[in-house]
Order: sequence, then C-alpha cells, then structure tokens
Amino acid sequence: MDYSKTLNLPSTSFPMKANLPIKEPEILLSWEKQKIYKLIRERCKGKKKFILHDGPPYANGNIHVGTALNKVLKDIIIKYKTMRGYDSPYLPGWDCHGMPIEHEVIKKFKIDPSKTNLLEFRKKCKDYALHFINVQREEFKRLGVFGEWETPYLTMDFKYETTIINTFFNLAKNGFIYKGDRPVLWCINCKTALADAEVEYDDETSPAVYVKFEIIDSLKEVVEINNKKSYFLIWTTTPWTLPANLAIALNPEINYSVINVKDEYFVMADSLVNTVMQKVNINDFKIVKSGIKGKKFEGLRYKHPFIDRTGIVILGEHVTEVDGTGAVHTAPGHGEEDFIVGKKYNLPPFSPVDDSGAFTSEIPNLTGKKVFDVDSEIIELLRNKGVLLLDEKYSHSYPHCWRCKKPVIFRTTKQWFLKVDNKDLRKRMIDIISKVKWVPEVGENRIKGMIENRPDWCLSRQRYWGVPIPIIYCAKCEKPLIEDEVFNKINEVVLKEGTDSWFIRDVKEFLPKGKKCSYCNGEEFKKEKDMLDVWFDSSVSHLAVLDGNRDLSWPADLYLEGSDQHRGWFQVSLITGVAIKDCAPFKIVLTHGFTVDGDGKKMSKSLGNLVEGRKACEKYGADIVRLWVASSDYKDDIRFSEEILARLMDAYRKIRNTLRYLLSNLYDFNPLIDKISYEKLADIDKYMLHRLSEVINESTELFENYEFFKFYQVIYNFCVVDLSAFYLDILKDRMYIYPANSLTRRAGQTVMYEIIANLARLIAPILVFTSEEVWQELRKKCNIEESVHLAEWPLVKEEYINNEIKEKFTKIIDLRDRVLKLLEDLRNNKVIGHPYEAKVILNIKDENDFALFKQYEKDLQGIFIVSQVILNKGDKFEIKVERADGAKCERCWNYSKEVGLDKKHSSLCLRCVNILKEIGKYE
Ligand SMILES: [Zn+2]
Ligand SMILES: [Zn+2]
Ligand SMILES: [Zn+2]
Repeated sequence: MDYSKTLNLPSTSFPMKANLPIKEPEILLSWEKQKIYKLIRERCKGKKKFILHDGPPYANGNIHVGTALNKVLKDIIIKYKTMRGYDSPYLPGWDCHGMPIEHEVIKKFKIDPSKTNLLEFRKKCKDYALHFINVQREEFKRLGVFGEWETPYLTMDFKYETTIINTFFNLAKNGFIYKGDRPVLWCINCKTALADAEVEYDDETSPAVYVKFEIIDSLKEVVEINNKKSYFLIWTTTPWTLPANLAIALNPEINYSVINVKDEYFVMADSLVNTVMQKVNINDFKIVKSGIKGKKFEGLRYKHPFIDRTGIVILGEHVTEVDGTGAVHTAPGHGEEDFIVGKKYNLPPFSPVDDSGAFTSEIPNLTGKKVFDVDSEIIELLRNKGVLLLDEKYSHSYPHCWRCKKPVIFRTTKQWFLKVDNKDLRKRMIDIISKVKWVPEVGENRIKGMIENRPDWCLSRQRYWGVPIPIIYCAKCEKPLIEDEVFNKINEVVLKEGTDSWFIRDVKEFLPKGKKCSYCNGEEFKKEKDMLDVWFDSSVSHLAVLDGNRDLSWPADLYLEGSDQHRGWFQVSLITGVAIKDCAPFKIVLTHGFTVDGDGKKMSKSLGNLVEGRKACEKYGADIVRLWVASSDYKDDIRFSEEILARLMDAYRKIRNTLRYLLSNLYDFNPLIDKISYEKLADIDKYMLHRLSEVINESTELFENYEFFKFYQVIYNFCVVDLSAFYLDILKDRMYIYPANSLTRRAGQTVMYEIIANLARLIAPILVFTSEEVWQELRKKCNIEESVHLAEWPLVKEEYINNEIKEKFTKIIDLRDRVLKLLEDLRNNKVIGHPYEAKVILNIKDENDFALFKQYEKDLQGIFIVSQVILNKGDKFEIKVERADGAKCERCWNYSKEVGLDKKHSSLCLRCVNILKEIGKYE
C-alpha cells in the first residue's frame, strides 16, 4: 500500500517562485479594473483625516531609487493609516517650473531663450514637464503607490499659479516684500542671478595677493609706537573686487599682533604672523606687541591702496585664522558675508559692475573692462603703488554656473525680497518650530539654526520658465503698484489664462481702465521682467492644495522628504505658513537620508551609479524595492547595491515560503466550519497565538513611530524563527499524519489561519503585491474584503494574551535549542541521520524545571521532532542522545517498538494503524 496517499500533504496554487516582475503588473491591472483606490476612498468617507502632503518632485527625468524611496515611504504610511481607519487620501504633485527644465529644453532644442519667441519656449518647457509627469506617474504606480494619479496638483496649473501670485500679493500688502540691493551669485556669461543650488563647485586657480592698507589714524590707543607708517595686511583671491573695498573686517575675539619691519608696522593675527612673514619672504621682523583683541581696532580708518577713498575697520565673527592674515578685505557689494557685516556698519553694497561683468563708470580707470580680465592690471597697479607684498597662484574650490560651467561672481543687483524679520516672522517661526514634531529629533535644531541665520529670501530670478513676479511699475516714477485694484485685475487674468498672459497681453490689460500712478499721475506702465524663485511656487503648495480643500485639511499631519529640505521645502513652506496663517503648515515633519551606492558614495548621474526605479522594478520587483525601503534605517544614508538587494531577495524568499507553507496546509480548512475554539487548543498553539499578539502589538507601535526597519526585523524573525524553524516544523506531524478532520490537525490549522490572515495584513503596507496574492488565496475560502488594501489593521485579541504559557514555552524553547544543537552535532558526525532516529534522554536537576517538563512529557518528543524522549529527575542537568528504539514506521517515519505488531500493516506503528482505521483505509 502506498501510505503517502493516506497523508494530508500540503497543496497550494500559491507559487513558490515569486516572479514579481511578471506578477506585479498583473495585480496592478486587476486593481485598476477593480478601481481599488476609489473603493478605498469611498470606505474612508467620514472617518478622521490623516493628511500627508506630497512634496512635489521635479518633473524632470525618470525616477531613480532615491525618488522611489521617498514615494514608497509615503505610501507605506498612507496604507497603514488607511488600514488603521483614517481617511488618508494621497494627492501627488509635481514641481513644473524652473531652471532644470529650462536647461533641458535649451539643450534639447539648442535654443537661446533670450533670442526666441518666449511663448514658444515656455510651451516647450510645459510639454517637457508634462512628458515627465506622465513618465514618473507610471513609474510611481508601478511601485504600488496608491493615489489620485489622474488628478495630481501641478505648480503650472492656472489655479495653482493664481495661488502663487495671490500669496505674493498678500505678502506684499503686509510689508513682507521689498525691492532692494543685494549681492547675488551672478553668471556674467548667462547674465542671470543664480540660486545657491544652481552653482557647482569646481577647482579654479585664482591670483592671490597680500596687500598692505595704510592706517590713517594713530595706533596710539593700541600700542606705543613712534610715528612711522602702519598698515593692515590683507589677503584676497579676487583682486578685481578691491576697487569695491569699503572696509577691513577683524574678528573681535581673535588676538592680533603689531610687528615692525624696517620703518613700517603691520597688523595681523597672532597665529598667522610666522606663516605670512615666511610667505612674503620677510625674515627680519620684530613683534612689537601681541595679544591685542580685534575689537581694539574697531573704527580705525585706512587709505584705499589705489583709489582716493578711506575705509574703516569693522568687526565680524566670520573672520577666522584658517588662512589669510586675520584681516579681511571687505566689499559689501561682492559677497554675502561682507554684505551682512557691512549692513551693521551702514556700508552700502557698492558693486560697480554691470550685468555682463564689466566695470561701470564708477571706476573710471577700469570702465568697460570685464572683472576676470583686470586681475593682472590691478596687481600691476598695487605693485606700482608699493603696497603689494606677494602675488601667487592659488588653487581652490570656486562656484561655477550650473548652466554654462563658467565661474560666477557676487554682484549687487535690484531684486525682490521677502523680509524675514517683518512682523517678527523669524521669531514666530522659531517659536512654532518647537510645536512641530520632528522625526528624527535632530531636525528641529537643524531647521531652527537655519532660520535663525537665514538672510532675507531673494525671490527674483532672471528666468523664462516660471511664474512672473506680478508687479507693475509706473514707467515715469518707477514705483511699483502695490494696490488691491491692480492685484485683483492681475488675478482675474491669470485665473483665466495662466501666467503666459503676462507675456501676451499689454500691461494696460492688467490694470483697471484709466489707471493713473498714485504717486505721479503717470499713465504709462511696465511689467516686471523677472520670474519668481521656483521655491516660492512650492512654498505655497499647502495653500494651493490643502487650504479650503474639503477632501484634505490644513495644516497637514505630515510632510515627508529628504533631509536637505530643511533648507528647502520645509523652510519655505514654514515661511509662507507663518507669514500668512501664523501657523506651521505641518504637524509632523519626517526626514530621510540619501541613497548611496554599496561603497557609500552618493548616487548621481555623473558618477554613473544612479539606479532607475523602473529598472529596479523590472529586475527585482516592486515588492523587493519596497522591502529595501522598509528594511533601511532611513535616518542615515541608505545603501543600494546588488549585494544588499540579493540579501533582501533571500529574506523575501524566506518570508514568502513561510506564507506559502501556511497556505498549503489550509487547503481543506474552512474557518467558518473547522475553526477550533481557544480552550481546546494545545498549549503550543496558544503560545503561538500569544506570539502573534506580541508581533501585532510591536508592529503597531513601530508603524506609529515610523520605524519600519525594526518592523521588518520583527516580521522576518517571526517568519523564520518562530514559524519556520519552530512551530511549523513541529506541526508537520500533526498536519500530515492525523485524520484530516481530527481535533489536533484542525487546531493547528486554526492557528495557521489566524497567523496568515493577520500576517497578510501586517505586511500589506510594505509588500503590497505579495500580501494581495496571499489575500486572494484566503478569499477562496471565506468572505473577506475584495483586497487586502481594503482590510483593517489587525487588532490583538484579548483572549490570545497568555503570559503564563509564554513563560513556560520560553523555558521549553530554551531546552529545545540545546537538544537541537546536540542533534545537529550528531548528524554532522553521522551518528544519526534524521532526528527521528534519535531518542533523547533528559536528566533535569531543577525542581521547577522538572515539574514543568513533566507536565509536557508527552509533547516533548513532538517538540524536539525525535522519536522518543525519556525524562528523568537527575542530580545534574544532562542531555543524552541514543538511537531510537524499535523500527521506522513507513507512514510517519517515527521509530517505535510497536512497528510490526499489526499483522496487516506490519511496517506501521500502532498510531498510524489506528489512524488508518479511523479514516477507513484499513483494508
Ligand atoms: Zn552661466
Ligand atoms: Zn508714477
Ligand atoms: Zn506511524
């Protein structure tokens, strides 16, 4: 007789091989048919809201694994919150304007926007953005991310653009907006201002000079010297900025020396005297006095080395002793720090340089000459004046234009600004920051520090593809018209026609009929030409998308982006939020690190180590990419490499096999009919339900704290350690050998069903496809939700908590581990083959332990998966293994002395003989 036909061997249509790259698109298709997202939305109606507001990615290029990481993290949270019973819609958005798209269009069509039809150029930019919105949308959907994909928000929508200009108006009317001089990074080749993010640092060799500036006032207050000439020694790598020198900055707390060289005195930082003197090749010098604090020199006047002008000594904390002389040449029109420190001393941002980088008539000798061409001329001039101590080549990292790769300069121009200190905005933002929850916590101090130190926000961009700064000037008196009637009219046109209208329509069409300048009665007007900083677009997303939207809510519960957004989106959103609504637009801000390759190198196009999201899905499957996201501690940089993915594939296989094994033993189990009540379960079953409860509790807590990588570990360990290596292994005997409908088998199935029904839901936010595959298998047996993504998050059943059994089994498992270790050794030494060939003899000394094990004496053989266990009370703890007694039963493979007692089935043990009788197979 073929006894294997009398066993209940596992069977399932759930495939072992996942084949995710093929299977996932099929599941996506079924979701689409089912209109799964719409179903979710309908079921959430009226529930408490949880709004994660999407930071709009830039509509430029395919998504890479870094973008995937961000979107998947968002999706994990939204799927979890949805299962927890929140109404958590996800409205994705795209950032559509700005330089990167402009740049790509210029490259692709080889056009110069300043020389083409602006509307045509803008149309090309718009099409470019739309193309990549479509590309990225498909790529995000492929990752299993649910959302309002057909109606995303776009920063170039007319309605959105209207919010941008209205926010600008609102800020302007409340005194936040002003036009002022300011040094900005400027490309003299592209004739445009550049944002910090639009410059690239690259090595550059510059002429460095040591120059002496003659002090006019006496140094008497500081040091007793005779009437010889005294000088400050400065060092600069941009000699062309010397014509704009207005001050010398010293650090108030650094110590300075006065040194004597022949009949001259020089002032410089104590710590730099030797280095500098060696450099300029002066060996014969004497330190007259040192340890003079920088603040002692404040207000001293000096002569400009080649222009008839005096400058003053000012103090600034930015002055260091790292290089140079500790006395810093200061041109407030040509540097950010110089501008800031100059402002404290009321120094103007003097910048005698035009758009093309040529000197203006303010510097007569250099008028018309380009800044980068005059360095040698200025050096000659200094030499002739006898104030040059040294000139040399200096190699350093210098900012270059993102677009043309040429070195850029700082230059003062008229720009529109947002005043960060208007109406106490800065202070209010800092107060409000501490009311927001920052995950991880370090984010709070990071953004606080940035807000404390940030300069006013320069809103002007000399660009083509963006929202124009909606300002109309009087052509006669040049005053901007900050007036409601003007703003209302502009708003009206833009809402209807978008911001292209700014370039199509005449200025008069944005003004009420018969408008005259309120200052000079002028009747001619002109439009501002600059665009708004693209960050201004995204800074109002909370107003454009959340505010007044019935399906969403303001403020958002959560913003979730890369940690660079402390400087970017979080900060600018906070500015508009606090300025307009006196409140942060978010309650929680969660940040993640950046994706790096296996060597820890930042991923970038130029390094060629960027992995596209689409390719990762094609190669591994979206669930593996999602598992990578979930398993990474996103607080730090996140590594992505072949090895990491291979390891995850292996982990995934283990989890999948556990799920499959559970399903394969449930083929004849109908939970409605076959379920066994809790009291009738074996203790080991109860123990597993207790473990399941622990896993649910831990998972819930970890999801609440956004600690997905710990959740991954919990699930992995539960599948591999608790289930695969323990419970499911032990269950095999009960599942296969006993009658299909026996209590012991149904009890095991009851627990297996509980486990898989909960496990499928626990992993649903992460393994969105695999959990659905499992769910559809479960649906074949009972009436559950159409999709796992419509199911609720598991709740712990109170009756499953059983600490007493947990305690007992902790001891039993500990004993089991020791027994298994010994069996393993014996197997390795070929003493036994299968563990069924073993008989385990336990000598237990501890009274309590003995009592406990005695209680489970009958079960131990099954728990150890051996044929026999002898339990003795011993005088020391000891485990011995001998060969099992009797012969191997052909049906259950256990060894037993009873094998052969039945004449008809002489190769079976009596247990199997009785089971055959029970199932009617005893012939
Ligand atoms: Zn440039
Ligand atoms: Zn006027
Ligand atoms: Zn048997």
